[in-house]
Amino acid sequence: MSITATTVQGGLTTLTDEVIEELRERVHCPVLAPDDPGFDGIREVFNAMHPGDPALVISCFGTADVRDAVTFARDNGLVVSVRGGGHSIAGLSASDSCMLIDLAPMHAVQVDPAARLARVQGGAVWADVDRETQAYGLAVPGGVVSDTGVAGLTLGGGYGWLRRKYGLSCDHLVAAEVVGADGQVRVASSTENTDLLWALRGGGGNFGVVTWFTFALEEVGPTVAFAGTFYPVEEAADVLRGWRNYVAVAPDEVTASCLTITMPADPELPPAVHNRACIVVGGVYSGDAATGMDILAPLRELGTPLLDMSQPMPYIAVQQGFDAFFPRNTLQAYWKSRYLSSLSDEAIDFVAARAAARPSPVTLVNLFHMGGAIAAVPPDATAFAQRSSPFLLSIDGNWTDPADNEANIAWVRETFRLSAQFGDDGVYLNFTGRSDEPADVAVSSAFGANLRRLASIKAKYDPDNVFRSNNNITPVATS
Ligand SMILES: Cc1cc2nc3c(=O)[nH]c(=O)nc-3n(C[C@H](O)[C@H](O)[C@H](O)COP(=O)(O)OP(=O)(O)OC[C@H]3O[C@@H](n4cnc5c(N)ncnc54)[C@H](O)[C@@H]3O)c2cc1C
Repeated sequence: MSITATTVQGGLTTLTDEVIEELRERVHCPVLAPDDPGFDGIREVFNAMHPGDPALVISCFGTADVRDAVTFARDNGLVVSVRGGGHSIAGLSASDSCMLIDLAPMHAVQVDPAARLARVQGGAVWADVDRETQAYGLAVPGGVVSDTGVAGLTLGGGYGWLRRKYGLSCDHLVAAEVVGADGQVRVASSTENTDLLWALRGGGGNFGVVTWFTFALEEVGPTVAFAGTFYPVEEAADVLRGWRNYVAVAPDEVTASCLTITMPADPELPPAVHNRACIVVGGVYSGDAATGMDILAPLRELGTPLLDMSQPMPYIAVQQGFDAFFPRNTLQAYWKSRYLSSLSDEAIDFVAARAAARPSPVTLVNLFHMGGAIAAVPPDATAFAQRSSPFLLSIDGNWTDPADNEANIAWVRETFRLSAQFGDDGVYLNFTGRSDEPADVAVSSAFGANLRRLASIKAKYDPDNVFRSNNNITPVATS
């Protein structure tokens, strides 16, 4: 049966049986049309609002399959979507009628403990990386949910529990293997295609399909000090003031965040938090766990604790601690984020008031403490430009019923708009839902002065914008 797919010109094209059969003979992996068994089994996305409805899926087993997939898309003028972990909030790996390059089968991780390097395939999630690296007491700074893809998170920056001590995930990227828009396989490193490596450190999926990432490793765990204390949301303003005063003098070993959520009536949790809106203060100390528990202790005394999960914990358990809140293809999600220049009393009162008025129990209002190693890297040293702000506010709208989409999206947008008075320039693109403004507004706000160089590197490696289902950078050749 032939297939109709969208072309980069915005029209439709028909892929005949013969054309698809030829592709099947060329690659060594499944090529799935919507009626094929296995089509429904491809890795689901996180955001149920953007499930995606691809015309054709190539579930690649290796670099050569990716090369053949990109070449096929080019030859047939198809819109390409690339799916790593599938956690894009904006549904960037879930375009309709596209050719989906699904990297889920490519999740190998190879650790070289002597060289302190990990090679990670383009479809791995953080759980894959943590498992292999922690076998040696090593880690790549990743995100705080272990089911998030390494690829999208790293290419867009990457904030996690180690960010203040060790910086961003993209700061640990020392080399990459990339299948370019021309179907060529290139290595980007400190000696080869150095401009490409610079762009991959925060510039998103604009420059090709990354088939292998090489990361520098840090010594972490296997046990780390963890603080996780739940306070009533009614105490949010006081808790946040205490948190702000604590992080102002905390060493870089401490990475701390606050979030508001309403806990479910889970029998494994104490009744005190059942169906209770809470402000949760979380912190990790990168270093000796016993020392860390002492240093994190003030985070456990910021109000009236309803639940205190603080204890020395395996780093892997910390990394998985939030997973249960983020099942795939279940929640509708719309997120927006803004860097804050400071955390004034007015900003705290604003955050506390919005946190108390969340329209959905699983909507999070998060404050991330930044600085430390993030700010130690000059803004033009990598594509990731926004490094100086001390805080990030992330408004993570999550809900279950599609009938509530409009109201929840409107609430997130209003909170974002009202927070502008406290904001620095710049948004974090990885925490951004499908935009209500022209796409280039968010992109230029995120990349700032780095955008010109990124546009020129885009023109060199992807002049026809084959890779456009991302936070897209328009190619602009420089003479
Ligand atoms: C539950 C949840 C928790 C999160 N927690 C964090 C966090 O703690 N810290 C943080 O910084 N961010 C976090 N994020 C945001 C996350 O960084 C982004 O959503 C990121 O894009 C996810 O990457 P992915 O590979 O899973 O996404 P995908 O949806 O697969 O891809 C996202 C983008 O990257 C491109 N891409 C994917 N794979 C490749 C590849 N191999 N080569 C080239 N391009 C590729 C895609 O085409 C798309 O444009 C979280 C998101 C969710 C949903």
